[in-house]
Amino acid sequence: METIRKAFRHLEDSMQRHDRMRCVISYESFIARLVENPDLILRNVFQVFHDMIHAYVGDGEDEYPDDPESIRFVHYDCTRLFVEGTDHPFFADRLFANRLIHQVEALRRGAQQNKIYIFDGPPGCGKSTFLNNLLMKFEQFANTDEGMRYETLWRLDRRAIGGAGNGDIHPFVNRILHLMQEAPNGRMPFDFKTQTNDLEDPSGKLPPDIHLMDEPPVALEEAIEVPCPSHDHPILILPKEFRRAFFDELFENDEFKYRLYTEKEYDWVFRETACTICQSLYEALLEKLGSPLKVFGMVFARPYRFSRRMGEGISVFNPGDKPMRQTILTNPILQSRINAILRDSNRVRYLYSQYARTNNGIYALMDIKGHNVERLIELHNIISEEVHKVEDIEENVHSLFLALMNPEDRKNIEDIQSFSDRIESVNIPYVLDLKTEVAIYRNIFGKHIDASFLPRVLHNFARVIISTRLKTRSEALMEWIENPQRYSSYCDENLMLLKMEIYAGHIPNWLTDEDRKRFTAKRRRRIIAESESEGNQGLSGRDSIKIFNEFYSFAAREGRLINMAALSHFFTRIRPDLLRSIPAGFLESLQRLYNYTVLQEVKEALYDYNEEAISRNIQNYLFAVNFEIGAIERCRFTGDRLEITEDYLVSQENVLIGEGATPEKRNRFRSDVQKEYAAKTLTVEMMQEGKAITETKLYKDLYERAVYNLKEKALDPLLKSEAFRMAIKDFGTTAFNNYDARIKADVQSVIENLGRKFQYSQLGAKEVCMYVIDNDIARKFSAS
Ligand SMILES: [Zn+2]
Repeated sequence: METIRKAFRHLEDSMQRHDRMRCVISYESFIARLVENPDLILRNVFQVFHDMIHAYVGDGEDEYPDDPESIRFVHYDCTRLFVEGTDHPFFADRLFANRLIHQVEALRRGAQQNKIYIFDGPPGCGKSTFLNNLLMKFEQFANTDEGMRYETLWRLDRRAIGGAGNGDIHPFVNRILHLMQEAPNGRMPFDFKTQTNDLEDPSGKLPPDIHLMDEPPVALEEAIEVPCPSHDHPILILPKEFRRAFFDELFENDEFKYRLYTEKEYDWVFRETACTICQSLYEALLEKLGSPLKVFGMVFARPYRFSRRMGEGISVFNPGDKPMRQTILTNPILQSRINAILRDSNRVRYLYSQYARTNNGIYALMDIKGHNVERLIELHNIISEEVHKVEDIEENVHSLFLALMNPEDRKNIEDIQSFSDRIESVNIPYVLDLKTEVAIYRNIFGKHIDASFLPRVLHNFARVIISTRLKTRSEALMEWIENPQRYSSYCDENLMLLKMEIYAGHIPNWLTDEDRKRFTAKRRRRIIAESESEGNQGLSGRDSIKIFNEFYSFAAREGRLINMAALSHFFTRIRPDLLRSIPAGFLESLQRLYNYTVLQEVKEALYDYNEEAISRNIQNYLFAVNFEIGAIERCRFTGDRLEITEDYLVSQENVLIGEGATPEKRNRFRSDVQKEYAAKTLTVEMMQEGKAITETKLYKDLYERAVYNLKEKALDPLLKSEAFRMAIKDFGTTAFNNYDARIKADVQSVIENLGRKFQYSQLGAKEVCMYVIDNDIARKFSAS
């Protein structure tokens, strides 16, 4: 019992804490909060939507921050927005994420608010998942302190206004109100329609629009609350013409004030007006009370609560949803009480449309067909005219309008010419970025799938899938790469493999310097722009998951890694039907790119790139050449103790100028280094200019030489020594112990390096080395 009581007390505490944070505040407190935190308090739906996206996605990561030609095509991690905490994750690829972020930035800036955003994508691209997740995150965010906005609430004080007693209420309404108060559960004790006929109405007429709302009536207290049905921002109660002067008083001449007055995103603060209900209440009260200050005493602010299920702030319509029976919503009880308190039944008309409920919120259509076609047409009219007529009253409608569309439904809106300038299409095609495609497989089949593949093979599966979605020919790439033939040993003739790298945000290092230089911002924009018309065909997201499942079941075997041979076998033998969708020659090019890449990896692993050791050796050598043979000295740069023998110097020179150098060449090299060191490096660069040894020209030259020679020689043991090959094969078995120490150490280090640098497992590293040797891949590339 005690624990239960404790649990309840805890629950009560936290609920109270929660409520305190989100309670109704006076207009004065609202203004105080506005001054304290204008960025947070003064936001419309577009600004909050932007802040929501930014809160979940962040700034994005530029992999090439120093690239002067960068077009800010960066990596946005959309996991928190579309994956975490969702029933069905949506995976935004790099292209779509950039498109979305740019749209959202433009929305906040206020450039394009009078539009309907239509997300246009083929079946199976995940658009409805996208929209559902987006709306769910918006709802969550808008109900947090970070995303919260205030809306207007009126508290009409009967005594302050001049005390309309119950006797002043329309007798008909008075009777109903009494009946309701007597009802035990606060609900109507009788059926309204049958009873109305029996009621005597002395005036002989009923208000025309009485529809009884199914909600408990409010007790007859001294103050009545009138919420703004349009969720007006409380600042809009201030008459438009006074707002500038008001802000002048309120804010120092600070950065925020400057932005408020100059930036388009704050236009709404000066342009928009309160809804007609709030406006008429304001005017009626001003007349009764005689002073704006007294009127503002009755204006309050409360958090705008969003609920998609209740249709507050967020409404989503499916094509099958029937149009609402009542297009005009009223609240007769509230209406009668407003009338009573103001003693005027025509002054404030509490009527509004369904659009009011999503004013300052999001109104969304799932697919433009069925009843949603009518809804879209109506929306379009509202947007064009900027107001919506409810009877003879004009209603403000400032919402974020979102819709989804299948390509085949485009015909439903094509007839309407004027749509073009009010509709902003955002493409949401199949995934075109291979990293995202792989992330989808991992999400569905589990992260462990990686362990079944040799590195790069999983990504190559994704490349095959994406090749079916891209256009084969790219004008932008052809304009950029003048001689595609140059890359034929590792790229397809249409350069689709190159395009896939760029779409994934990667500039391949096999590009020549010349082409890398020609990769200007203008060319980048052209290439990325081509993605706007890609991804509407080929294998859909659903297809690719099915195909991956089939491939994985076919190729994954205990104790064996899925390699390129399995991939190629699958697409040529198991599912040859898919070859129709894959561009001709693509699989072969993919194999060549794979060969080229693993060769680089094995080379790199053999070479044992150890910058620090190379640097240390060069510094020691530069120091040593200044002494007689046989001297023992401590290097002034590294602190190493050096025995300066002929053997020592030769071993260093072998690295710098190659092993085959004649003694004459070696001696000339040594004395050249010594002379330059004495005449320039030490005396000028270091002593006069204050450079460190590692910043001098001589040091840099030698370093470059060493790296070049070490890499050139890297493959020698692998290619020349049969013992090395056998040792790799025997690695991990007892037979490996029989090799000599030198070979064992080399094999060990290459396997380790492949693991450390390229995430190969031991088994994978062994397999890829054997692959490179047995297929004579080094020779294939050295010949080209
Ligand atoms: Zn209002």
